[in-house]
Amino acid sequence: MKIDGGCHCGAITYKAEIDPETVTICHCTDCQTLSGSAFRTVVPARKEVFKLLTGQPKIYMKTAESGNKRVQAFCAECGSPIYSSAVTDPPVFMIRVGTIRQRAELAPKSRIWCRSALGWLNSVTSMKQFAQQPPA
Ligand SMILES: [Zn+2]
Ligand SMILES: [Zn+2]
Repeated sequence: MKIDGGCHCGAITYKAEIDPETVTICHCTDCQTLSGSAFRTVVPARKEVFKLLTGQPKIYMKTAESGNKRVQAFCAECGSPIYSSAVTDPPVFMIRVGTIRQRAELAPKSRIWCRSALGWLNSVTSMKQFAQQPPA
C-alpha cells in the first residue's frame, strides 16, 4: 500500500510503501518515553520504498540495555517522531504510524513487549468519551 505523511509542522514529509498486515503496537518502555504516550504504533518500510521528500530529521541515538544503538529520527522544529532505524545502511525504516496520512486504515495486527504494557489500557473503551475537547 502506498502511504505518505509528515511531521506536525510540515517541515518533514515522506512517502513509502508498506504492508498493512505488518502494523504493530510496541508497549516497550522506551517507546512510551520517546513517544510521550502509552504505546507506539509502527510499520516497517524497506529502504528502497521509503523516500524523504522534504526536510532533514534530527537524530537521537538510543542505546538499549543490550548495548544496541538505534537511530530515532524526529523533527527538530516540532518534535514529531518520524522513524527509527539501524545506525549504518538501514535495510528498513520503522515509520511512526501517527505521522502517516492514511493511519485510519492501518489497524495494528500485533502487539509486542506486552510485559511492559500499561495496565489501564484494558479499560480505555469504558472511559468517559467526548467527541472533542470537553467544556471547561
Ligand atoms: Zn515538524
Ligand atoms: Zn518499543
